[in-house]
Amino acid sequence: MEPRALRVVLLGPPGAGKGTQASQICRGWRVPHISTGDILREHCRRGTDLGRQAQSFMAEGRLVPDSLILGMLRQRLENHDTARGFLLDGFPRTTIQAESLEAYLQEVDRPLLRVLQLKLEDETIVRRLSLRRTCIRCGRIYHLEQNAPRVADRCDHDGQTLEQRTDDREAVIRTRLQVYHEQTAPLVSFYAQRDLLSEVDAALPIQEIQGRIARLLTSCLRPLRSTRRASAGSVRRSLQI
Ligand code: AMP
Repeated sequence: MEPRALRVVLLGPPGAGKGTQASQICRGWRVPHISTGDILREHCRRGTDLGRQAQSFMAEGRLVPDSLILGMLRQRLENHDTARGFLLDGFPRTTIQAESLEAYLQEVDRPLLRVLQLKLEDETIVRRLSLRRTCIRCGRIYHLEQNAPRVADRCDHDGQTLEQRTDDREAVIRTRLQVYHEQTAPLVSFYAQRDLLSEVDAALPIQEIQGRIARLLTSCLRPLRSTRRASAGSVRRSLQI
């Protein structure tokens, strides 16, 4: 089997901070950040066939059908930049997607290292997402209360307009949360059964979450020699970090 590489899934409801944590992890470990939401939005912008088919599902906060997602993700994973690892953000979201990912990674002999579950209350999510704004050019993310732009509705970095994603309107957020609880939350037990799951409290300050994730991933990447000695550590990892 391949030496241990950082192959990680970030699991959690929309608005739990997956994107923020993913960028940080990927910068630190130099692995690609693979966000199926970002890939789909790019297809929508370019007006590809896939983008056209996905658009209405996304605007309503529903999941894009597995049949469209699976080929797109597999193609992305086959890119050579995943050789040193990858971080999946927003995938898998259904049991079919998780099973399909597992089968593919077994086929190429590159198992997942860890699944990080970011946990956050629904009402906190609604407050966070409805105040989120994104720069139309560079994609930087602002929060109107916690991380407001210096000039209203303008990106600090390039001065471009900030917009609210159509799926960040409150009614759509509530649909996305419902979809998460019904279709994605079962993956928590899917990965717990495989002893891959670590919970992270996403209500903590961002820096604190980053520190905890960094320590956890570092301990997972240590050579087997030292992790075997610390078998109690693996029990801790499968609980809360
Ligand atoms: P995100 O940016 O991850 O919140 O994704 C935005 C939207 O893209 C979701 O609400 C879904 O409509 C769609 N989407 C992203 N990833 C997936 C996926 N793995 N399976 C199905 N739909 C997805």
